[in-house]
Amino acid sequence: MGGHQKSNILKFLNVKECNGQERHLGNPFVFKRRRREEYKFLKEKVLKRIEGWKTKLLSLRVALLWDVLYKGGLSIAGKGDSIDIWRQPCIPWLEYGEFRDIMEQVKTRYPHMKSIADFSNDDGSWNTALVHDVFGVPLGEKICKIDRLPVEHNDILVWKEAGDELFTVKRGFQSIHPTQDNSDSSLWKLIWNQRTHFRHSTNIWRLVSGCFPTRDRLVFVADKVCPMCDVENETALHIFWECHCSQAIWFSSPFACFRGNTLPMATVKDKL
Ligand SMILES: [Zn+2]
Repeated sequence: MGGHQKSNILKFLNVKECNGQERHLGNPFVFKRRRREEYKFLKEKVLKRIEGWKTKLLSLRVALLWDVLYKGGLSIAGKGDSIDIWRQPCIPWLEYGEFRDIMEQVKTRYPHMKSIADFSNDDGSWNTALVHDVFGVPLGEKICKIDRLPVEHNDILVWKEAGDELFTVKRGFQSIHPTQDNSDSSLWKLIWNQRTHFRHSTNIWRLVSGCFPTRDRLVFVADKVCPMCDVENETALHIFWECHCSQAIWFSSPFACFRGNTLPMATVKDKL
């Protein structure tokens, strides 16, 4: 097509001519022969995003781990410089919540204090006058009686509940799930049964843990109504038990666990 004719058509349609650089949602609109180059930017973009996720996840995990360690752990001071006085429990007879309450009160008056070293003498003993001043005499006296390691020794963190004072992942888990009782453990055994396909176990586990992506949980989905019955909101309980469409499916299926259960039960756990 001649140049003149082309420009006439463009003019008639009132559109601009493509130059090959156009993008739609950040991706190339027109593909040329050198695809590798076209997609290089996409690859870089994805890699960058994955890198971001990794860092985010890692820092989340580290934060969670510190949380667990602080709650169940007890720091014993040597030099005292690595113990964050405001967050890291170092007073053995206090529960974590009590410890934090006291520290929050003290912190408003002594915000510049950072570690136990700030409350210590050069020889690694407690600075009695200062401790009394900060915590008041009754508590201060008790704190000053807490044994310390020799000053040349690094601070250590021990696991309070355990006789051997060692931290294990299991002990950490128990400290954040103290109410995980036997009925739960038999439920987990049932879910992670070797005879059940891993994919199904994962799905049932998500269902029980309340992280199944049903509409009621998806904040960005405005329409919460179940697309099968168009009556009730789509919740995990609804799509697997309450929806009459699901009930019809279960009724004709061989899986007994979901079928015919009409008792009003509140949670997915009860149902299973
Ligand atoms: Zn429904």
